[in-house]
Amino acid sequence: MVNPKIYLSPPHMSGREQYYLMEAFKSNWIAPLGPNVDAFENEIAAYVGAIEAVAVNSGTAAIHLALSLLSVTKGDKVFCSTLTFVASANPILYQGAEPVFIDSEPDTWNMSPTALRKALNEAALKGKLPKAVIIVNLYGQSARMDELQLICNYYGIPIIEDAAESFGSTYKDKASGTFGKYGIYSFNGNKIITTSGGGMLVSDEKETMRQARYLATQARDSAPYYQHSVVGYNYRMSNLLAGVGRAQLHVLESRVDARRRIFDRYYHALADLPGVNFMPELAGTRSNRWLTALTIREEKLGVSVRQIVESMNKANIEARHVWKPLHLQPLFKDAAYYSHTEDEHIAEDLFQTGICLPSGSNMTEKEQNSVINCFINTVNDAKKTIYYFRKHEV
Ligand SMILES: *Cc1c(COP(=O)(O)O)cnc(C)c1O
Repeated sequence: MVNPKIYLSPPHMSGREQYYLMEAFKSNWIAPLGPNVDAFENEIAAYVGAIEAVAVNSGTAAIHLALSLLSVTKGDKVFCSTLTFVASANPILYQGAEPVFIDSEPDTWNMSPTALRKALNEAALKGKLPKAVIIVNLYGQSARMDELQLICNYYGIPIIEDAAESFGSTYKDKASGTFGKYGIYSFNGNKIITTSGGGMLVSDEKETMRQARYLATQARDSAPYYQHSVVGYNYRMSNLLAGVGRAQLHVLESRVDARRRIFDRYYHALADLPGVNFMPELAGTRSNRWLTALTIREEKLGVSVRQIVESMNKANIEARHVWKPLHLQPLFKDAAYYSHTEDEHIAEDLFQTGICLPSGSNMTEKEQNSVINCFINTVNDAKKTIYYFRKHEV
């Protein structure tokens, strides 16, 4: 008998979601927008310490709005982390702009300040600076914000912080997602909290956030009839889903704690294996450990990432390769790319060696043990060794 599937990062409801849904049903406030949307926006803004928050129907929509607000248009360039999900960069294409991909650095797996400086320096010399830099916080880990902000400020380029994966994380005690001119969160089904699908744009710019609300509701001018002067979108969050989000926000801290505990259990069980290295946590930052990620040196461990992913699949466990860098994607084959150093391509190396393990906050210890055992058994089978899972230590 195969065990029930262990998912990478499934939704984890608290039980209070139905209360908010019931309230909305009782008052027939199914749409449009409504009190849950207003409250969810205020609660998120207060939680992360931003002046304004606009609830939208996806994290991708939030990135698209941020680019629109910065007037990114055809022929413009936008710099973006290369090691990320395609949704970070797709909105650049929606605007007809050109992405330039920036490599990672080893300590955070996020945007390399060295590569960014080189890219901006060359762009300045050519007189073609980007309209924005999209900085991603991978798997919950904040990028090197101090260094990156310093470089962007020097050239006067606004930052969009893609905190889709890092909601609940901090950098020097300040909420992840609040470091750029705009920050975005995602409440997609696989994220640390979910509204089944949704996102949030946050910023301290009151005036442009009014513009964000306008663009996200079909850009209706104030007139007694339907009048439109610019292209708008239908991007707002439903009042029902905002209710789910409010209940989820109540339990965010416990979700972060749970994911960090799962990271610790994997770490204690697997970190001593030869060639295994866990994703670091930069000093002064706290990661929500959205997904536990680690790298495997095949020449030392005796198995490849692909072998582990396959044997997990056979055991009905969903493990995944680390994101394939966007500069290697067929979609972006013509885009420019700046590596960390001349001969260090960090994101490519992380893609070759990186794996994400199931990290859902509702995973049982038994399920975590299944993942650990599967990992160790795969290594033992390949190497004819007998590493074992020292359960008493974790
Ligand atoms: C999930 C994700 C997004 C997109 O969010 P959606 O709500 O799914 O549109 C953007 N960037 C990153 C890094 C993500 O992981």
